[in-house]
Amino acid sequence: MSERPPETPEADKPKSPATPEEVTRKLEDFIKNTLGGQVLFTRVDGPAAQRTEENSDGKAGEQPQEDNSAAFEFHHKPADIKAHLDRFVIRQDEAKKVLATAVCDHYHHARMLREDRESGTPGPRLEFSKQNVIIIGPTGVGKTYLVKHIADLIGVPFVKADATKFSETGYVGADVDDLVRDLVAKANGDIELAEHGIIYLDEIDKLSSGPEKLGRDVSGRGVQTALLKLMEETEVPLYAPNDIRSQMQMMFDTRKGRTGREVVNTRNILFIVSGAFSGLEKIIEKRTNRKSIGFISADMKTAAAEHLFREARTKDFIDFGFEAEFIGRLPVRVVCDPLSADDMFQIMKNSEGSLIRQYEREFAAYGLKAVFEDDALREIASRAEEEKTGARGLVTAWERVLRDFKFEMPSLGLPEICIDAALVKNSAQTLAKYRQMAASLAVELGAAHAGEARAFAERFQREHGFTLVFDDAAVAAVAARAQREGMNVEALCARLFKDYPFGLKLVTRSTGGTRFDLSAEAVANPDKFVSELVVSACRRQHPESASSNVIDITPEPTAHES
Ligand code: ADP
Repeated sequence: MSERPPETPEADKPKSPATPEEVTRKLEDFIKNTLGGQVLFTRVDGPAAQRTEENSDGKAGEQPQEDNSAAFEFHHKPADIKAHLDRFVIRQDEAKKVLATAVCDHYHHARMLREDRESGTPGPRLEFSKQNVIIIGPTGVGKTYLVKHIADLIGVPFVKADATKFSETGYVGADVDDLVRDLVAKANGDIELAEHGIIYLDEIDKLSSGPEKLGRDVSGRGVQTALLKLMEETEVPLYAPNDIRSQMQMMFDTRKGRTGREVVNTRNILFIVSGAFSGLEKIIEKRTNRKSIGFISADMKTAAAEHLFREARTKDFIDFGFEAEFIGRLPVRVVCDPLSADDMFQIMKNSEGSLIRQYEREFAAYGLKAVFEDDALREIASRAEEEKTGARGLVTAWERVLRDFKFEMPSLGLPEICIDAALVKNSAQTLAKYRQMAASLAVELGAAHAGEARAFAERFQREHGFTLVFDDAAVAAVAARAQREGMNVEALCARLFKDYPFGLKLVTRSTGGTRFDLSAEAVANPDKFVSELVVSACRRQHPESASSNVIDITPEPTAHES
């Protein structure tokens, strides 16, 4: 008899480390018991969490300690990047060129740095001032769109935020370091890739320290300093010090023996900032001694401002309210122009990311072909221009016009919708026209289906001597079923009623009648319908069998048999 090994006492069993969920639960219980009330920790899937998920095979300890940025390759030329941007972004040629060049300089430099490090021969080319960029331009003209497409093309993570949401301390609003951690999250925990990401900050002009520009709790100057640190070079902890979840993750990782990188270096992160910089033109105007702006029309004023923006110097930004060090870290400056109605037309017509393609897809989901005419695009473009929100105005203008069509057209059963200027200018009237068209088409279609059903009945009459009469509901039912099954009505009837000659013969034998009215029931369940006809005919002929379930359906003897 084999002896059982002695049971290990509970206390001696090796304990597996608690999961973050268990730690969270314990903390919740602890706080609830101590302070009372309901306590709930929200789960924040930050970079640290993602890192753990990826390493759940327990191999986290094998994470490389060294910077192996060899994982990031860059072999683009400025003209290739611009050509890519041309597919999506209309106008903004200057911005495309400047951004493409700055991006190439930045990433080629990062590559050379790495090569120098790997070869162990650092040379003079290590001297490099980072090509962080300021884009000046109004809202909705493609600033974000440009940066997003660059990031997509070169395969780096991209994070966008409004500068206004940051506070100096990180306790009010969000902490600027979160931008870097967000890059890690975007890179699915790949720290090396995140270290080559792009951080894009809009509304940077709101950080200028003009008294009227500061919110109650937000110090623009403090945020500038915090951002400056990131733009220079710093190491951002992967685990946010103010985030309990992130801290628990760190404890958990440490307990599991995970000793991967815990900081993200910002040396190779490219910063792009933007804003409308309204008021900067006045500073430039004053410096350059131009007097024109006060006395011209609004349009000319905008054009003059754009022109002035192109002459912006570091001093102008300092006079605008920026710290000299901060603005000094943003050496590349470029202007994005406002979009004219014609530009918006081109965006809809030619951009690969056009909103029109999206609407076409949305209608196509219901089997509807949407045809957009140029005159409609022109009308919407001029409405969008009036909105003064750049290409964002296109979404607003289309939404208003298409709202009812998107709701109703899918149910009208029409195959096509033509979106022309008439529809844009008078959508209610056009929708009424489509409703009418759908109703008369339904009538026409109904007549066509009834005709096909009649054709089947005539053939049935010729071949079997029975008259089949489809009522309206039967025609509608057979038409709907034919559409569902992708066949024509006549062929469907032939299939549904193929056994009817035999059944109807039995009925005729009992009743002598040869006319049969078919209802929607007959279409839904043809066999049941005919057997019920047979049963009731037999019962009428042999009332004595009414209580019996046995019906004689022996075929009539043929002439030969009798
Ligand atoms: P912003 O300049 O405020 O960053 P966005 O780049 O976010 O504006 O533009 C909003 C949307 O408008 C984009 O997603 C894009 O669809 C469209 N858009 C804006 N400008 C252009 C442009 N120049 N070419 C093509 N589409 C554009």
